[in-house]
Amino acid sequence: MNLVLFGPPAAGKGTQAKRLVVAHNMVQLSTGDMLRAAIAAGSELGQRVKSILDTGGLVSDDIVIDLIRERLPEAEAAGGAIFDGFPRTVAQAEALDAMLAERGSQIDRVVRLKVDETVLLERIEKRFAEEGRSDDNPESYKVRLAAYNAQTAPLLPYYAAQGKLSEVDGLGSVEEVSGRVEQALSVLVG
Ligand code: AMP
Repeated sequence: MNLVLFGPPAAGKGTQAKRLVVAHNMVQLSTGDMLRAAIAAGSELGQRVKSILDTGGLVSDDIVIDLIRERLPEAEAAGGAIFDGFPRTVAQAEALDAMLAERGSQIDRVVRLKVDETVLLERIEKRFAEEGRSDDNPESYKVRLAAYNAQTAPLLPYYAAQGKLSEVDGLGSVEEVSGRVEQALSVLVG
């Protein structure tokens, strides 16, 4: 099973992805985590993308598509991937469909975590205070949210047209949201 966890930054995608990894033995493919790892390692890629992440913009489609392509065999061996923070543009979604199709695979379900902007802003303030992630500062977060609305939200009709979209209320405790995500997947995992 291949699953896309979809939603604005701070919707809870990473938290829910980690629970799905434990519950279903799937592999979490978070392009944000991969890029932060490259920055922490000081690699050439990390140096190229650091200022983009810090200011909240999107890195180029080619970079993230390559990162995902490299990890598909591992996810396939595990029995499936949870795409977290990818795809973020229509071009990325099309590339993902093509890469999976080449491997005789596909996206099975897209779960959208719905959280309204007032709650997102409260969450991000708290996360910034607790974790100090540089792009959670209010200025960068505004850019990230704007990028989501302009470039990522248009993927909703893309996946709805494929009949793959499930909408899940992202408010409430981690357990409550997790229950709703599992419900949305139950048609697939039985
Ligand atoms: P995230 O942890 O998913 O919120 O990602 C953190 C940052 O990494 C984003 O604000 C972007 O700068 C970059 N990033 C992560 N995933 C992507 C993607 N699929 N496309 C473009 N930029 C990305």
